[in-house]
Amino acid sequence: MSGPEGSSIKNVRLCVVAFLKENKMTDIEYMKIAFNEALKAYKEDEVPVGAIIVKDNVIISQAYNLKEKKQLVTKHAEIIAIEEAEKLLKTWHLDDCTLYTTLEPCLMCSGAIIQSRIKRVVYGCSENRWSSLSSLLKKESLNHYPTITAHIYEKECSMLISSYFKEKRVNNRISLEV
Ligand SMILES: [Zn+2]
Repeated sequence: MSGPEGSSIKNVRLCVVAFLKENKMTDIEYMKIAFNEALKAYKEDEVPVGAIIVKDNVIISQAYNLKEKKQLVTKHAEIIAIEEAEKLLKTWHLDDCTLYTTLEPCLMCSGAIIQSRIKRVVYGCSENRWSSLSSLLKKESLNHYPTITAHIYEKECSMLISSYFKEKRVNNRISLEV
């Protein structure tokens, strides 16, 4: 767009970009938003994992695990967030995006992260039982390696998951005893 109208839109856009740069949120602030998504999963009796995707300091998608509700193994928080971001940006290239997730991504989600070229992954607590993102990134034959920041808001993310599984075990015991 040209003329005075176009330049005023350009000015507004520059102001917004400047505002977002100045008000850049920290990793822990973004992780708290992902944690809120995980809480939604917890309330719906899903494994409590939440994820958000950030591009140019703007949250472009947020999601939580819906595997049980949808009965679809692919409905992990990270995959849903990736799909939403791709729909919004109209491309599968998420090169300039950062994905925040409360739990270290599993192998399925790690595959999607690598395939979509996500630049950076920030996660809360580590996945210690199964192979996951950190074990996959040790391989030398991948076509993309995102940078990783781990252990952000770790205690809270970890406690949420362990209390979910603790409750599950108690409930299973009760139902066996009844
Ligand atoms: Zn996953």
